[in-house]
Parts: sequence; C-alpha cells; structure tokens
Amino acid sequence: SQYKQGGASRGWLGESLACLNDALGQKLRIARGDAYRVLRTLTQAMDVKGVYWNRCYEPWRVKRDIAIKESLRREGIDVRSFNASLLLEPHENVKEDGTPYKVFTPFYRNAYMSFMDETEGMGVPEAVASPKALDLYAHTDLPSCIGLGVQNLDLLPSFPWHAEMKTLWQPGEQGAKRGLDVFLARSIKCYKTQRDFPAKKNSSALSAHLHFGEVSPYQILHALKTHILALDHQVDSEAFLRQLVWREFCYALLYHNRELPTQNLQSKFDGFAWRDDAENLRKWQKGQTGYPIIDAGMRELWRTGFMHNRVRMLVGSFLVKNLMIDWRHGARWFWECLLDADLANNSAGWQWIAGCGADAAPYFRVFNPVLQGQKFDKEGEYVRTYVPELASLSDKYIHCPWESPARELHLAGIEWGRTYPHRIVDLAVSRKRALDTFKTHCA
Ligand code: FAD
Repeated sequence: SQYKQGGASRGWLGESLACLNDALGQKLRIARGDAYRVLRTLTQAMDVKGVYWNRCYEPWRVKRDIAIKESLRREGIDVRSFNASLLLEPHENVKEDGTPYKVFTPFYRNAYMSFMDETEGMGVPEAVASPKALDLYAHTDLPSCIGLGVQNLDLLPSFPWHAEMKTLWQPGEQGAKRGLDVFLARSIKCYKTQRDFPAKKNSSALSAHLHFGEVSPYQILHALKTHILALDHQVDSEAFLRQLVWREFCYALLYHNRELPTQNLQSKFDGFAWRDDAENLRKWQKGQTGYPIIDAGMRELWRTGFMHNRVRMLVGSFLVKNLMIDWRHGARWFWECLLDADLANNSAGWQWIAGCGADAAPYFRVFNPVLQGQKFDKEGEYVRTYVPELASLSDKYIHCPWESPARELHLAGIEWGRTYPHRIVDLAVSRKRALDTFKTHCA
C-alpha cells in the first residue's frame, strides 16, 4: 500500500522488536494478517474478556481500529484504547469553538498552558512504572496464527546496506533512555542557540525512538520538568518543548486532514506546474547537485538514516523551489530513507517547506544554500564530513567551490564534473522561475 513502511525504518523496527523480545524473555508473539481476524481467532480460542491497545493516528489505522472496536464490542468484549504517544491528542488541543488550529503558535500556547500548573509550575503526571511481572502465555498455548518470531517478519535487509547505521543508533527502549539521559546531561543547556548547527549534534536525536514508542513524550516532559523549572536552563528547555509540540501539531494536522500525505492543504497549489525532471531528482537523491550543503544533507541521509532538521529544510526548499519538483517526490524519498520516517511529521514538514501547508511558510521564502551553509556550517565541518572530495578547500570556498581560484581547486584535487559535479541549476535563475510560476498558477 502507499503507507508501506520505508526500508530504513523497517530495519529500525526489526532491531527494536528484537530488543523488546529480549526484555520479555523471548515471549513476544507476533501475528501477520487481517488484524480483526487475528484478534477474533484469539478472543474465541482463549475466552478473552477484554482487548486493550494504544491509539494510532494515521488515517488508515484510525479507520481500521474503529471498525475493530465496534466489531469486538458487538461480540461482548470489553475494548478500550489509550493515548500513549502524544502529550495531547488531536481532539484535546482545539480552539474554543472546537475547531482545529491551523497555525502553530496558538496551538503551542494552548498546549503549553495545559502543561503548566499554577501551583506546582508544571502539571506533568509521573510515567506509570512497567509491571514487575508479566503473565505471558507459552507458545504452545496459543493458536497457530500467532506463532511468528521477529525474524519471520523480514524487516532486516538481506544485503547489509545498513551496516554503518547500525554502529550509530541503538533502537529499543534502552537506547531511547540512554539518548534522553545524554541529551539532558550534555546538550539541553545550549539547545536554543545551537540546535540549528548540523555539525554540532546538539539536538536530541530522539525522533525515531519517539516514532516507535520507545520513549513517550510524557516521559520526556517529566524528565524535562526539573530543567524547565531551573532558571538557567529554562529558555533551552522551552525551546525543546516547542519542538515536541511541533510533533503534536503535525499529528493534529494529519488527524484533521486525512489527505495530508498526498494532497496540498492549500488547494490553490493544485494547479502548480511542477517539473517532471527524473534526472535532477536522481541527482538530488544521490547528493550530486553541485551545492555542498545540499549534497552533504542528502548523503548524511543515505549513510546514516538521519538528516539534521535545518538541512531537511534546505534540501526540501532546493527540491521544491530551485528544481521545481513536486514535494511528494521528496516526501517519498525521505519516507524510504529516514529511520524516523513518520507519516505526520514527514507530510507536514514537506507541505510546510513547499508553502502549501498549514503554517505561515510562504512559497516565496526560498532558502539560499550558499548563505545558509555559510551561516550554519561556517567552518564547513558538516560538508567536509559528508562530501569528503571537498574537504581540502578553505573555509571561504567550502560552500561555493565554483568561486575558488583555479590554483586552490587544483591543490584541493577538485576537477569539475569528475571529482565533484557542476551545479545543476543557477540559484538566481531557478528562484525567479519558481516565483514566476507561483505567481502565474497560484497567487
Ligand atoms: P529535536 O530538535 O531534538 O526535537 C525533539 C523532537 O521533537 C524530535 O525528536 C521530533 O519528534 C520533534 N520535532 C522536532 N522538530 C520537529 C518538526 N519540525 N516537526 C515535527 N516534529 C518535530 N521528523 C520525524 O520525526 N519524522 C519525519 O519523517 C520527519 N520528516 C521531516 C521532513 C521535512 C521536510 C522536515 C523539514 C522535517 C521533518 N521532520 C521529521 C522533523 C524534524 O526534522 C525531525 O523531527 C528532527 O530533525 C529530529 O531530530 P531530533 O530528534 O534531534 O530533534
């Protein structure tokens, strides 16, 4: 289906389930097939009285879970679902008149007010501790339809393209806990000022852990509480909380707009003349555009399964505006390559960058990859890591190698079109082309 999980995040899920299985003493049981039929087989075979689960918000899951709930209830089973993955569910954080927010700032303000408790500063409930003992069925007691082990799911790639990724990430609950502890101990203190610099690695890198439910935003908020209340870290903690609430906003957008992954939120973009340009799409995917920060970002994604948020915005703007390629091609590539691929965050992120989404990010705001590179990767550390063929260039030319004198290029071992590609578009010309097209078709 169109929502089939991408390759990178399938790998993460495989590792994560293996960790869960270990934590459960190898007693994790998995079923494959129509969810209702599997549950029905189980409830009938084992005389089950109640079925409980945590809610998901992807449109196809909402539809499926409502149908399962109704059917099982008709059969006399006690069915209950719970919120486990959001601070506030989409129906909880709405305007006074009950309609959903369309812009982020009031959404954030309202959410923030509900976390803050006038007497204690912050009304965040403690996370419920894991049960001390779990009474799990032995394999032999279960109907044969749920006899699968994690390895039967074919989640891990047969060709080890993810070998490097494996050294960088630790999927599973332990990895999430470690990531949160390290972030709070080392990076939160300068999160607000440093989070935009891709080489500094000052963001939490918790996105895949959050996506797979290995850590809940309530656990994070609770851990953050002491930092938020300590004045010296307050600004940084609130900046971090703001990002967590962006995630909530994306989920609310998806929940209230089922077509978010495939249709422009602003219908005036429906007539936009996207370019059908398979060659440049391929060069963008491979990190061969001739613009160092764009190429570094796309290669970071391919090698590590991750891309820094600032760079996601730059490569997105470049694809949608300078190359005028439909944002859905970008979203699909991210979906395949990101370990944290998430339908809500990815769809909303791409619509935002394309200017056709919910918040105020107008189409005519086009990022300049050279200026952005010089601002956020001043010494070129990020580019040097992922585009090693440019590593010997001086800081002055690392983001604009075409301006470098011939002698410096020669000394750095750069040969245009051989060691590093020519620029695939001119920034000024392509920017004007995009803005003219926007004026003609959408304004
Ligand atoms: P931190 O800065 O530490 O933020 C903490 C958490 O807040 C993140 O883990 C994430 O869960 C959430 N968050 C942060 N920024 C955003 C944001 N802009 N929107 C929504 N949630 C956010 N994030 C995904 O999790 N999955 C995706 O598929 C995804 N696709 C994106 C596509 C585009 C085009 C853009 C511009 C952004 C996308 N993001 C996506 C959002 C963001 O880039 C990542 O969440 C962030 O880079 C993850 O790094 P971190 O955990 O270190 O973030």
